[in-house]
Amino acid sequence: MRSAHGVAVCTARLELSMLARRLLFVIALVSARAVAQSFPDTVAISALARTLASDSLRGRGPWTPENARAARILATELQRLGARPVFGNALLVPFVDAQRPADTVYNVVGVLPNRAGSVVSDLVGLTAHFDHLGVGKPDAAHDSIYNGFLDDAIGCAMVLDVAKRFVRDPGSRGLLVMFFNLEEQGLLGATALASRPDAAKITARLRLLVGVDAGSPAGEALEWQLMGASPSHAAGLLADSLARAHGWTTTASPPRPISDVFPFSQAGVPILFPIPGRVWRGYTDPQRTAAMVRFDHYHQPSDEWNHAFPLVGTWWFAEWLWEIVRAN
Ligand SMILES: [Zn+2]
Repeated sequence: MRSAHGVAVCTARLELSMLARRLLFVIALVSARAVAQSFPDTVAISALARTLASDSLRGRGPWTPENARAARILATELQRLGARPVFGNALLVPFVDAQRPADTVYNVVGVLPNRAGSVVSDLVGLTAHFDHLGVGKPDAAHDSIYNGFLDDAIGCAMVLDVAKRFVRDPGSRGLLVMFFNLEEQGLLGATALASRPDAAKITARLRLLVGVDAGSPAGEALEWQLMGASPSHAAGLLADSLARAHGWTTTASPPRPISDVFPFSQAGVPILFPIPGRVWRGYTDPQRTAAMVRFDHYHQPSDEWNHAFPLVGTWWFAEWLWEIVRAN
């Protein structure tokens, strides 16, 4: 009895210590995962997009001081992440358009090192445009500031979100981040950059350029158009397989001059420009239409930050962008 009792106690202790070890192992595994895994930060995305779309930036209009301020805000954010200049020795890259020869304007361009700390490796590029329409014809509510929240303040904020995650968990290729100016004036900033004589040495290293400028759907989009993925290229097929893992479908289409990625595709860079489709998870067709009427105000003064804007679609879009960048 006694010895049996002793053995039982002993076994119980042994089991307890094994349980403790297993528990420690599980805790270690979970915390290792917590370090490796990251997620889109929609609070930060919304905050930056709100800043860029605030009335004080007056719609980031072309050739305005507020447009230059928006460029500086983004350059500062990139600098904080440790981005290095690619053209000249600053993240603010000046250019002049023939229409306004006396007015210098800026693109924002920087590269984040790959996991070996190199900025001269092959690159994956990510871009959004920070300019919008500025101040113009007032709408029925007498609002004349075209804030451009979905077009494309939120795109800039999503690009920066991916950049932050990349800094925590860099890939084998460096990440080239480009915030273009004067997109709304006819892709002027992207065209100016792509046609610089010293751009060829960058485009030759650019394995993929992803553009973000189709707003963000208010819900999780289940179908996407991948402009630039036709004729098919490796990054397009990869983006499609990542989409399928989420239960989404994609349709490839050829490059069209509707985005800043277009001049780069003409220079031979594989591009992707994801455009959310018309089916969203949990939305009936009339519900989706109602959400579009409420939030999607393309090129109107009411395209502005709205506390009620659901960020679930933004979360999924930003997550997919990260997966595409990280897998390439
Ligand atoms: Zn846009």
